[in-house]
Amino acid sequence: MPDKPLIVDLHCHSTASDGTLPPAGVLKRAAEQGVDVLALTDHDSTAGLDEAQRQAVESGVQLIPGIEISTTWQGKLLHIIGLNIDPDSKPLQKGLGALQDMRDQRAHDMGLSLKKKAGIEGAEEAARELAGTGMVTRTHFARFLINAGIAKDMKQVFKRYLVSGKPGYSRVDWVDVSEAIEWINGSGGCAVLAHPLRYRLTANWLNRVLTAFCEQGGIGMEVVCGNHTVDDTARAAVFARKHGLQASVGSDFHDPGPWIELGRLGRMPDGLQPVWQQWL
Ligand code: AMP
Ligand code: MN
Ligand code: MN
Ligand code: MN
Repeated sequence: MPDKPLIVDLHCHSTASDGTLPPAGVLKRAAEQGVDVLALTDHDSTAGLDEAQRQAVESGVQLIPGIEISTTWQGKLLHIIGLNIDPDSKPLQKGLGALQDMRDQRAHDMGLSLKKKAGIEGAEEAARELAGTGMVTRTHFARFLINAGIAKDMKQVFKRYLVSGKPGYSRVDWVDVSEAIEWINGSGGCAVLAHPLRYRLTANWLNRVLTAFCEQGGIGMEVVCGNHTVDDTARAAVFARKHGLQASVGSDFHDPGPWIELGRLGRMPDGLQPVWQQWL
């Protein structure tokens, strides 16, 4: 009998950012779902990793310490995943501290914008309350607007609020892609472009992004994502092969629900080098 293939999931969130399960809860759920190797990749924070590691030992899951860094490249928002990072790295934490300050300021600006442009009171306070000690994100504002009956679901709330041109949006120049890659590589990790098809870029623009990403020291991209169709994955694989990038796989799990589950991912297309093989 051949060995059962490993279930690997290298992108998910806990209450340290916009997930709804605490880090230990994420690891428990991963174990229940049969995940063998998991990276916890909270937005701009490594605060969940200690708790996650304690539960990983308990649950028999291999935890890869991770991060999802908010960056801006030529005016576009790009998410860079750092895998196998050292959370104690000083330059990394200094950089994340700057991003945390930007998130703080943005939350204030988003609250003001919702009030001024849509007459919605108390959004900043409510979003902060929902975020607790974790990063305050647009997801928390979205949850507040849904709970308050102002929008019906995530799709609608992002369409009507919180995106460019709508009340609740506040533009931020996050850090440069090259800086994020430097912090990740400097901490001994490797940099992977998150969900490359979600930026709605033309093939030309995505090629430009990937060329710059490689030049700046990035080594991988997500090829299999939680929301992908088989065609999406095949398309992503073409870009990875073209740019000689290693392939990553991540659900981008945020909360228990019917759609995205930890470890529930499509098959990796042939002819790609999986980014996790180096840690097995
Ligand atoms: P932030 O990093 O604070 O700008 O928040 C970004 C997060 O919002 C993403 O990581 C997603 O979890 C969530 N998000 C963004 N756009 C959407 C959308 N259209 N539908 C649902 N969630 C979204
Ligand atoms: Mn998120
Ligand atoms: Mn993302
Ligand atoms: Mn994510």
